[in-house]
Amino acid sequence: MNSIFAGLPTTVFETMSQLARQHDAVNLGQGFPDDPGPRDVREKAAEAVLDGWNQYPPMMGVPELRQAAATHYLHWQGLELDPATEIMVTSGATEALAGALLALIEPGDEVVLFQPLYDAYLPLVQRAGGVPRLARLTPPHWRLTEEVLASAFTPKTRVVLFNNPHNPTGRVFESEELELLAAFCRRSGAVLIADEVWEHVVFDGRRHISVLSLPGLRERSVKIASAGKIFGMTGWKVGMVCAAPELMKGLSKAHQFLTFTTPPALQHAVAYGLGKDPAWFQGMRAGLQRSRDRLADGLAGLGLTPLPSAGTYFLNVDLAALDPRLDDEAFCRDMVERHGVAAIPVSAFYAREAVRSVVRFCFAKTDATLDEALGRLERLR
Ligand code: PMP
Ligand code: GLN
Repeated sequence: MNSIFAGLPTTVFETMSQLARQHDAVNLGQGFPDDPGPRDVREKAAEAVLDGWNQYPPMMGVPELRQAAATHYLHWQGLELDPATEIMVTSGATEALAGALLALIEPGDEVVLFQPLYDAYLPLVQRAGGVPRLARLTPPHWRLTEEVLASAFTPKTRVVLFNNPHNPTGRVFESEELELLAAFCRRSGAVLIADEVWEHVVFDGRRHISVLSLPGLRERSVKIASAGKIFGMTGWKVGMVCAAPELMKGLSKAHQFLTFTTPPALQHAVAYGLGKDPAWFQGMRAGLQRSRDRLADGLAGLGLTPLPSAGTYFLNVDLAALDPRLDDEAFCRDMVERHGVAAIPVSAFYAREAVRSVVRFCFAKTDATLDEALGRLERLR
């Protein structure tokens, strides 16, 4: 029996992590931190596993987590969410994305996506029967403009899948760009699915603006979050979905037949973590910002050209400035095989007409890991 997924390549994150292991490389490819994550949050999870309820929790998530998410988003993003009708817990943002696309797309509906795109988006949209319409962001600024939006919206647009802060570019979209997107969504009547998993990882004093706070988007948007990203524990796979009650009805039906629930101990630990002192979140950002700067300075010292990174764990370099003939995939392969450093070729985030000159590095690493990688890359000079 053939599956329509069988023809897809293995995701670039898995491929590069395997190559990294094979070559004993420093892995700055797949985005995960060296840091094990906040100890108190992990202790809560351990306590909950040992002494708590380990049977099915409620389908929509444990009430403590839904309430904690409502309190958290009121504090951090000024959102007023009803935990009983507007917040649902999923098994990672990935389940939330799959569920939202299955729930909202009717076969043949057009779905606007922005390239470069997180690699799960396209197969999920296609499997849900959506017809992808690809808008294109262009380096070095990756700006969302009227022209970019107009190139993909049509009268048949039903869903828009948008990621902010943006993986892989590290862009945090400005409020004018978000308002432009909101205007296109309002005009077309489309539902906006906003992948905001990197909401807490923003730098240089920036503040995350959720699409749910934009005029006219509150009733027609789905916000997707990931505790794995909020606490830097990417294996945890606890996601949260926020949407108006009418939209949530459909989303919860998709969820009940995808995973139904998410391990309760992790939910209790995330509920505790969301209430952590704001200083913890600020400290996490400050630490990552220092790592970003350390890697950017080091790569620039090697003659590479770092592009701006305003959020996420990622910093890109533009190879064109070094040599316009360089190809990102060949460069990454060479880097891992000859120099023992793994990174991600950004062309992997395109469905077609890829930019082939940008390479993504993850900087959520200790100083020692970053320095080891930079030392190994000395020979690039
Ligand atoms: N969306 C984006 C943009 C991501 O970068 C990631 C993970 N890196 C995810 C979704 C998946 O999140 P989760 O691990 O919670 O499924
Ligand atoms: N989101 C992570 C990244 O961009 C990896 C996710 C995965 O491995 N599927 O690196």
